[in-house]
Amino acid sequence: MSKNKLSRRGFIKLSGAALAAGASGGLPGLAQAAPKGVSTGKKAYLPKARGPRVVVVGGGTSGLTIAKYLKIENPGFDVVLVEKRAMYSSCFSSNLWYADVIDLEFLAGHSFLDAAKRGGYVFFNATCTGVDRAGRKVHTDQGEIAYDYLVLAPGIDYDYARIGVNDPDTEYRLRTGYPAGWMTGAEHVSIKRKIENFKGGVFIQTVPGGNFRCKPAPYERTCMIASYFKKHKIKGKVLVLDNNPDIAVKKDGFHAAFNELYKDYVEYVPSVNITGVDADAKTIRTEFDSYDFDEAAIYPGVRASKLIEVAGLVDAKSPQKEARIDVRKYHVPGDSRVYVTGDSRPMGFPKSAHLANSEGKYVAKVIAAHAAGKTIDWTSPASLCYSMVNTAPQEAISMWVSFSYDTTAKAFSPAKESTGTDEKRDAAKGAATLDWAKALYGDLFGEG
Ligand SMILES: Cc1cc2nc3c(=O)[nH]c(=O)nc-3n(C[C@H](O)[C@H](O)[C@H](O)COP(=O)(O)OP(=O)(O)OC[C@H]3O[C@@H](n4cnc5c(N)ncnc54)[C@H](O)[C@@H]3O)c2cc1C
Repeated sequence: MSKNKLSRRGFIKLSGAALAAGASGGLPGLAQAAPKGVSTGKKAYLPKARGPRVVVVGGGTSGLTIAKYLKIENPGFDVVLVEKRAMYSSCFSSNLWYADVIDLEFLAGHSFLDAAKRGGYVFFNATCTGVDRAGRKVHTDQGEIAYDYLVLAPGIDYDYARIGVNDPDTEYRLRTGYPAGWMTGAEHVSIKRKIENFKGGVFIQTVPGGNFRCKPAPYERTCMIASYFKKHKIKGKVLVLDNNPDIAVKKDGFHAAFNELYKDYVEYVPSVNITGVDADAKTIRTEFDSYDFDEAAIYPGVRASKLIEVAGLVDAKSPQKEARIDVRKYHVPGDSRVYVTGDSRPMGFPKSAHLANSEGKYVAKVIAAHAAGKTIDWTSPASLCYSMVNTAPQEAISMWVSFSYDTTAKAFSPAKESTGTDEKRDAAKGAATLDWAKALYGDLFGEG
């Protein structure tokens, strides 16, 4: 038996103590943890647990990393990855497909089944519908799963109210007719076809405020669409309506690309506050003006996945409905059996794949340490982000960041020595953009 492994006796002792403490009000998180969400009332059809069971919900960057590294940290864990998609397709790198820098195989040619086999964990294709923290069970549409530890890594959802859309009909029209392309492969395919079939005119790309998923990505996408128009001599322009007062990151590098490479193909408008969209008239209304479009990718506000709300874990003070967790240990306050990671976290870190991957390796260590009755020191997650801005030749710009934590102010700030940008586009960073993605797929899926 592994040294780290929580013995069955130890676990029963711990459960009993936790429940007793919960009943007497000793553990506030657990005491109030009434079941949340929908239960099917049946058990999920899964192999028998062969050790403390860790259920990871969400097979995106964060969940795939954590499932794999939990088994590395403690091979005695029985890890179940619950993912609602049957087929993987990555968000990161999807912009490159729009300009044919990569093909669809690059994004989607990765198997959940092979990742689980290589990583020694169980892949369970199901949708999580709720959490019963007191009973330590997750509900899925395929039945309930009992857990010893639970990690929720469900990513983001869109918040259309932030662009003045409050009725379900209009929201549905926008989700399906003018998808943002920051969540699912189906959105990426839809945007790709829009670009290929574009006959000319105005293609609007909106950019939200707040801590939106992958801040450089809407500007990178603008470059990729403009490059496609330029290459195929399409008389069209990308009109960028940005809620921010200026390009949110790597602004010198993106402005240089817009002005020097795509002068006739990109128009950039900052400080735009969208107040509504008329999907029939193809018009975006703002505080002062309205903008007509022929095609659009409308990126509304971002919030944490609705699963966080269903599980009763939203921080009431979070404008983006992110989870309330211990910001260095990632568990729900008072409940060190339940963790929230990835883009549903409340910290102001970049919502990026690189960061979710580095954070996931740390969270796997935190859980393994807890199971062994130990604690570990906090280590900062890091993000390294390349953005392709040119396709002929393939040239990119980059940025990197990690954080320090001020225990008095209880706040994170970028660590000076490991934060910076390289905004002069070149081919070396163009090649690094593709190498970075291949290395990440290799890590997540155990490929190569
Ligand atoms: C266009 C674009 C470009 C990007 N470019 C970069 C880049 O260059 N560099 C970079 O570092 N990052 C980039 N990113 C950001 C990166 O993809 C995300 O930040 C990262 O994937 C977040 O990881 P996550 O695991 O939190 O969320 P996700 O990867 O979205 O994973 C969440 C998973 O949870 C699943 N799920 C949700 N709800 C449930 C449920 N109820 N039951 C079961 N499963 C559920 C979802 O299906 C999904 O698989 C980009 C993103 C986009 C969209």
